[in-house]
Amino acid sequence: MTARIIDGTAIAAAVRADVARQVEAHIAAGGRRPHLSVILVGDDPASHVYVRNKGRACEEAGMTSETIQRPATLTQQELLDEVARLNADPSVSGILVQMPLPQHLDELAVMSALSPKKDVDGLSPTSLGLLLQGVPAFAPATPSGVLEMLRREGIDPEGQRVVIVGRSVLVGRPLAMLLANKAPGANATVTLAHTGTRDLGAVTREADILVAAMGRPRAITADMVKPGAVVIDVGINQIDDASRKSGKRLVGDVDFEGVSAVASAITPVPGGVGPMTIAMLIVNTLAAAKGL
Ligand code: NAP
Repeated sequence: MTARIIDGTAIAAAVRADVARQVEAHIAAGGRRPHLSVILVGDDPASHVYVRNKGRACEEAGMTSETIQRPATLTQQELLDEVARLNADPSVSGILVQMPLPQHLDELAVMSALSPKKDVDGLSPTSLGLLLQGVPAFAPATPSGVLEMLRREGIDPEGQRVVIVGRSVLVGRPLAMLLANKAPGANATVTLAHTGTRDLGAVTREADILVAAMGRPRAITADMVKPGAVVIDVGINQIDDASRKSGKRLVGDVDFEGVSAVASAITPVPGGVGPMTIAMLIVNTLAAAKGL
């Protein structure tokens, strides 16, 4: 079997185009143009790139965005005051605090200060708690990107055995909650695997849909995959590659070559789940502007 490649770049472009149309309809109906405020503390180069890409995606979808840049010396109180100001500003639809924050700042306290109505990253304790209760709230972008990708590919998790390898708060746990929800596009039987899982291969071979979110380059090999399974690779890992000019290349958590011969469908890295993350951020920002 040669797996169908799930083109995350194309799916994300379709999601972004849908959002752009909905933004115009929202404004035509008298709504305020959605606006995303991003707080960026310090000068981590990767964070600057992510924030720039998020801002660009907003603008391409007809939304406005601003980056509030603050020095790494910012105090906890100054950051909390900034969040409070944005919470109270009716022209701000969504707020995102780019992580990681400098060490002296308390990430959980900052996330807790975000208004749940504006938490478009879906990572505050309130948003995650509502997700756990199955109450509509903003879901974190990467897990909801995986659901949206499956939906648009016509892969219905209903009744399927899903194994997620990785239990982070950012990806694995919220994805498990979303897929286990008694709701259309979900309703799956979910297993959450991790480093404590005994005989990981025996568990992953049970999966109709296998999601790798481990941060371990090419750890999921063909012998760990049931023939015909759908394989979603969330991992983004940089490895050395002397054949490239940069000397580096990106790979996922799945051995793409080997697993493609066994799976029925697979996401590549890059060009799989990655592009869905920013697409779902703008979906959430539009929902915030509409009042969820
Ligand atoms: P993380 O916080 O490091 O969590 C990794 C999880 O994988 C942990 O639960 C860990 O288990 C588990 N794990 C690691 N090695 C394992 C092994 N050999 N066997 C079984 N379980 C193992 O990582 P994360 O933030 O979830 O990110 C995971 C990957 O996704 C990374 O490559 C990251 O770059 C990527 N990512 C991509 C996107 C995107 O937009 N596509 C977004 C976010 C993250 P323990 O809990 O037992 O330690």
